[in-house]
Amino acid sequence: MQQKEITLFDKTFEPYLTESEILEKIKQLAAELDSFYSGKKPLFIAILNGSFMFAADLFKQLTIEAEICFIKLASYKGTKSTGHVITAIGLDTDITNRHIIILEDIIDTGKTLHEFLPQVHNQQPASLKVAVLLHKPEAKKFDVPIDYCCFTIPNRFVLGYGLDYDGYGRNLKEIYQLKPTE
Ligand code: 5GP
Ligand code: MG
Repeated sequence: MQQKEITLFDKTFEPYLTESEILEKIKQLAAELDSFYSGKKPLFIAILNGSFMFAADLFKQLTIEAEICFIKLASYKGTKSTGHVITAIGLDTDITNRHIIILEDIIDTGKTLHEFLPQVHNQQPASLKVAVLLHKPEAKKFDVPIDYCCFTIPNRFVLGYGLDYDGYGRNLKEIYQLKPTE
């Protein structure tokens, strides 16, 4: 069936990745993780809100023993010396000596993970890797080591499959791209 354009508020989005393309990539990623983490009982840390659908579909495909937890990252202004600070809300599992895989919906500028990864590192996990659904290399401002990436995409705003525009559109099964204005 032909997918249609979607209008949300003032913006129009056009179909970009189909549900089956997304699920196929996630299946391949799950197979890689299954073989790499077999026997290691990894802990997946999914970053809310955007990654909830990616995390659920990926976790369903895994067959190894693994745990998952969901966190929110809150950013606030610290003191003058600490500047902008990011803290994790909901990380109540001890990650010391655990094999950690961070699940993120999209890496855009890289700022979020650039600030958060050192905090995870400080708690001395056995290993730390990053798995993302989408990566926009052209938007990069901060270095982030990306170990697994489902799709490398151009620098255009995307919507659907967990990703929102002003709170809406997360329920779309496919991923849409902002339509360029003529
Ligand atoms: P970064 O810190 O890498 O610049 O961006 C991280 C967050 O910005 C992502 O986790 C996501 O929530 C949001 N974001 C970045 N690019 C997009 C996009 O194209 N569409 C949507 N819906 N959110 C985005
Ligand atoms: Mg996110």
